[in-house]
Amino acid sequence: MRLRNVKGSRDTIADSEFVVHEPESVKGTWRGYFPNKAPLYIEIGMGKGKFITTLAGLHPDINFIGIEKYSSVLVRGIEKESELLLPNLRFIRMDAEDINNVFAEGEVDRIYLNFSDPWPKDRHAKRRLTSRQFLARYDKMLVPDGKICFKTDNVPLFDFSIEEANEAGWDISEFTRDLHHSEWVEGNVMTEYEEKFSAKGNPICRMVLTRKPEHTS
Ligand code: SAM
Repeated sequence: MRLRNVKGSRDTIADSEFVVHEPESVKGTWRGYFPNKAPLYIEIGMGKGKFITTLAGLHPDINFIGIEKYSSVLVRGIEKESELLLPNLRFIRMDAEDINNVFAEGEVDRIYLNFSDPWPKDRHAKRRLTSRQFLARYDKMLVPDGKICFKTDNVPLFDFSIEEANEAGWDISEFTRDLHHSEWVEGNVMTEYEEKFSAKGNPICRMVLTRKPEHTS
């Protein structure tokens, strides 16, 4: 993704009450962090935050955290939240490689990965957010019946993700290569990239990963 430097975005983030500034210090206590005791859903690589702000507005009974590496896009999510003032939504600026420093075992109920960067070169495979290295990180922080929900229009990345999920021992509980013409379209919240690529005619692939039954018992 090409990024434009947004002037002042770092300062806006540093001053924002909607950002968790020292997320490592909350590790192990996220259940008490929000005013509502509720399940915690996170989106990794939220970009400008259209998806997570919409979802948080639709589900006040769930707490949401949007994670994004770059200030220049995260700041757009903060602007949306400054208007919406949703009490169940907060943001973290970080590289998800360090996610296990922020969430302890069983603290996260669901992970959304939307239109993750493809990292097309083989030598960068472990940077893909659905690589076995990332799946191992998610395994450490999800509740036993937790879910990973992944959408993309990038077929090589989707195929890679199927292989990695199988290799890492996850079940694929929902699967489509054309979300917008599937049974799962109802209730689907579109992301910025999803709007852009589906408007070009690209089918949207989606899978949901869950742990195998022996893991959850
Ligand atoms: N999810 C949004 C959507 O669907 O419109 C944005 C998709 S954009 C292609 C991918 C986003 O993931 C970028 O904003 C990028 O900075 C972020 N990202 C990629 N790798 C990341 C990582 N390791 N940690 C945090 N954010 C990451």
